[in-house]
Amino acid sequence: MPRFFLNKENLTGNTVTIVGEDASHIALSLRMAVGDALVLCDNEGFDYHAEIASISREAVTLTVKEKVPSESEPPYRVRLYQCLPKGEKFETVIQKAVECGVHEIIPVQSSRCIAVLKDAAAEKKLIRFNRIAEEACKQSGRGRLVKVLPPVSYREAMRQMASCDTAFLCYENEDGLTLPGYLPSDTPREIAFLVGPEGGLSPDEVALAKEMGVISVSLGKRILRTETAAPFVLAILAGKYEL
Ligand code: SAM
Repeated sequence: MPRFFLNKENLTGNTVTIVGEDASHIALSLRMAVGDALVLCDNEGFDYHAEIASISREAVTLTVKEKVPSESEPPYRVRLYQCLPKGEKFETVIQKAVECGVHEIIPVQSSRCIAVLKDAAAEKKLIRFNRIAEEACKQSGRGRLVKVLPPVSYREAMRQMASCDTAFLCYENEDGLTLPGYLPSDTPREIAFLVGPEGGLSPDEVALAKEMGVISVSLGKRILRTETAAPFVLAILAGKYEL
């Protein structure tokens, strides 16, 4: 069933009004009609099962039939710090990470990133990245909108991660601790992890993580592409704490 994210200001009693792009998408692309059902997500963990009461390309009004807790959100919140990969790969990372349950994505400018996200180009790219995240949320049936935040430096990423109880750096040269070996048995409320770019992390960056108390973990003996690592981690988290 089609899903849309609700702007709570448009909810009056049990009537919702959808306007703008979503309205024209419902009316023209999905060719929905009065009486058809769809799901609205309020971005606070609840889904509203609603029925179309009136429809035009400008506005669609719906009657809410039922409000239920969203079942598609994991029992933890994961922040992915993704060092910017080349080309379109970051868009792939966003889409797959949303499907696999990420809560927030923060692009990181580390020393070996080829891509640079700054100034006016960054603004435009962030709009695109958040649109990709929203589409992936709708497609995968997420109950909350995943946000792609403005880029941070590697040092700032480490500073933010150091304040999270369960935080780790994915490091292929780590020969001791693996991710399953590091993860706590009880479900952490918040998890943060960083994935390096195609060229990996510099020795100084690995040392800074250590200095700031961010643990390095191995994802096994195979070298994963930068765009594979985050979904791989998220699948391990889902397997351990969610499914
Ligand atoms: N040293 C890598 C190489 O030889 O290609 C370059 C980095 S790898 C392509 C991209 C990133 O994915 C790494 O910086 C790391 O964060 C993560 N990664 C890939 N394989 C991993 C593994 N086996 N264990 C932990 N992290 C891994």
